[in-house]
Amino acid sequence: MTAPHETEALTAIFRRLIENYGPISLAHYMGESNARYYAGKDPLGEDGDFITAPEISQMFGELIGLWLADMWINAGRPEEVHYVELGPGRGTLAQDALRAMRRYGLEPSVHFVEGSTALKAIQLEAVPQAYWHDDLSTLPMYGPLLIVGNEFLDALPVRQLVRTEAGWRERMVGWQDGRLLPVIGTMPMDAALRAEQRPDLRGTPDGTIVETSPAAAAVVYEIAGRLIDQGGAALLIDYGYDEPRTGSTLQAVRAHMKVDPFALPGEADLTAHVDFHALSNAALSRGCRWLGTVEQGRFLRNLGIEARAEALAKVAPEHAEAIHSACTRLTAEGQMGALFKVLGLAAPNWPDGAGF
Ligand code: SAH
Repeated sequence: MTAPHETEALTAIFRRLIENYGPISLAHYMGESNARYYAGKDPLGEDGDFITAPEISQMFGELIGLWLADMWINAGRPEEVHYVELGPGRGTLAQDALRAMRRYGLEPSVHFVEGSTALKAIQLEAVPQAYWHDDLSTLPMYGPLLIVGNEFLDALPVRQLVRTEAGWRERMVGWQDGRLLPVIGTMPMDAALRAEQRPDLRGTPDGTIVETSPAAAAVVYEIAGRLIDQGGAALLIDYGYDEPRTGSTLQAVRAHMKVDPFALPGEADLTAHVDFHALSNAALSRGCRWLGTVEQGRFLRNLGIEARAEALAKVAPEHAEAIHSACTRLTAEGQMGALFKVLGLAAPNWPDGAGF
């Protein structure tokens, strides 16, 4: 856990910055806060702040491994393939996926894009053969990439624009009455909104908020370019929406509870819903194949999660109940099944993926 004095230091750093130079952008605030948040701790699990799909059940990572192996086989089993995971957390998804791929004769080299020193140490225990990268730029330049990211894009900073009488302005973070809070910036930001891509914003009332993630779009643009140049496929899984919308989705979670995103910078996980529509456009604009965006529940059912749960329960009847309840948690509408989406991308000459 982060020591309280460190959190005070981050609030104090923001305060000093704002008092000297004026409000900072929300993207700046979110980026710095999450860098601090992830740097020093493992936030996953019952004792941590939140739980992710691979930590709920091994079936999640296994089915992803199966999907990648199927793609690779249908692409003609190319050599020198690399498994790339973005923000691999505890390395659990990678372990389960690599085990499933090995059953089909697929044994790729392993590359992790990870910013957290604390999580890197845990990943090293789980997947000792991995190579680590600070960002995508240093990934191998040759050989197809099998890319996976679960709950990675939602942690990247968002920018928010707010409609005012005078035009679009950026939503910033200021310091007032002894605390950090959102304020409206003074710079005209109309040019940051590509009006031709957002006809839905015409005539929206003052106060309307539009959220974008230039950081997430840049990651997807880079993935698309790599897939085109090197071959391969990508699965990006996150909670989010797949048609243009308005409003803030910024949230902070600590110990499985929602908290004020401005109260504890660096001590709570800051996320925003992923705009799959915008990310699909980013990939398509580069000429990448878009396999689709589907709800996680449908994707996992299409890949046979129910049969897999049956098989696991038969081998370990004492865990049957836990296995079936994990399956429900991952796929049910009211749980992770509908809010979470899976975006599939592939190189132009790679096959159609199962499940979409
Ligand atoms: N995929 C894992 C963990 C999700 S938590 C799981 O499903 O369990 C988010 C992960 O992304 C963590 O590993 C975190 O350290 C990493 N991360 C967040 N922002 C990052 C950034 N800007 N650069 C690199 N890694 C980042």
